[in-house]
Amino acid sequence: HTMIPNTKHTGAKSLAAFERAKQSLPGGVNSPVRAFQAVGGIPPFIERGEGAYVYDIDGRRYVDYLLSWGPLIAGHAHPDVVKAITDQATRGTSFGAPTEIETQLAEELKQAYPSMELVRMVSSGTEATMSALRVARGYTGRSRIVKFTGCYHGHADSLLIRAGSGVATFGLPDSPGVPSSIAELTLTAPYNDIDRLRMLFEEYGDDIAAVIIEPVAGNMGLVLPQGGFLQAVRDLTLAYDTLLIFDEVMTGFRVSYGGAQGKFGIDPDLTTLGKVIGGGLPVGVYGGKREIMEQVAPSGPIYQAGTLSGNPLAMAAGLATVKLLQVPGAYERLESVSKRLVQGFLNAGKRAHIPVQGHAIGAMYGTFFASEPIVDYDSAKQADAQMYREYFHEMLERGFYFAPSQLESGFVSLAHSDEQVDQTLAAMDDVMQVLAK
Ligand code: PLP
Repeated sequence: HTMIPNTKHTGAKSLAAFERAKQSLPGGVNSPVRAFQAVGGIPPFIERGEGAYVYDIDGRRYVDYLLSWGPLIAGHAHPDVVKAITDQATRGTSFGAPTEIETQLAEELKQAYPSMELVRMVSSGTEATMSALRVARGYTGRSRIVKFTGCYHGHADSLLIRAGSGVATFGLPDSPGVPSSIAELTLTAPYNDIDRLRMLFEEYGDDIAAVIIEPVAGNMGLVLPQGGFLQAVRDLTLAYDTLLIFDEVMTGFRVSYGGAQGKFGIDPDLTTLGKVIGGGLPVGVYGGKREIMEQVAPSGPIYQAGTLSGNPLAMAAGLATVKLLQVPGAYERLESVSKRLVQGFLNAGKRAHIPVQGHAIGAMYGTFFASEPIVDYDSAKQADAQMYREYFHEMLERGFYFAPSQLESGFVSLAHSDEQVDQTLAAMDDVMQVLAK
């Protein structure tokens, strides 16, 4: 990563806080992207959030289009969510014993995602995908999995994999510490490329336990599945008795109430959820067909457990959030906001003669500085990173907080007002003129 020395917009308190944090935390953060390496500069330290706004410790206010990387679909500190958490906290925060609220949230999830006949709560998206892979391998007795280049499924060994070269692509470890013996069990194909997936199946189909996919890709920027792609993946996996895992940690309750599977009418074997269903508290879920999930302990032999799994605070926050999404018109509202943002970005780029791409689906959107359509990781990486860095910092200075990398999705919430969106579009237009100079 090139670090551009862009600290002019950062307040003195955040600068000092970052220096202090670096004495105790690797890189000053608890998750790498928070350190702003892709855009350079110093991250503002956040003091509080309210609705669509976050405030940093220097007293600066931002309209937040990152929303904790997706969970806060009702905005920051929504009164219903805060009440649910505080009510539960006064009754206790964790018991390590069954509670009714776990079943209540499970019932809501099953209703929204009929493919999830049984679910298991965990504490992060990583835990959900890691566990789903174990279940797929345990259930099928096979060892290989397939993932798509540019899709992110958390940091478990089998999933922290970069594509190698060649046609029948074996995965290479994306990080020191991932054994090559594990990485080579992960095969990779480009997103939206059914021919490459078919070739992998022709060679290794008998030993592929599962294909895991972000049905709408959100971790290489937002990339939409091309017409028929998801159905073709479903057909291929069925033909080879391979399980299809929809990783809807990001898309769940975001691209629609029923996620991508509801929107595109696909019936996966296993699904993972996270983010929104924890309402801002740590949560993940995996679930799927009864016959498969019954193999999970204690009803079956595949082991998986967690001290804080089904945590009452997280269940309460998630349940309150899901209820807010059941209000009629919620998704029309969310999508109208995300579509306006993208249209504004495209218009501003056009007016400034800067090549731009963008699309929105539900409460997610993606914007790129690129002249060609973005359909997979290779095309996403072609987008102009330097231009994004400048755009990001100019917008941040004006009080608009976007993802600190172009290869991330943008998020909107029920709390974003038309007025805030108007202000955002005006700033985008202004910034594009600055970038064009
Ligand atoms: N799967 C997807 C699609 C994600 O976007 C993420 C996180 O961004 C994960 C899994 C991992 O979730 P977590 O960060 O909660 O471990």
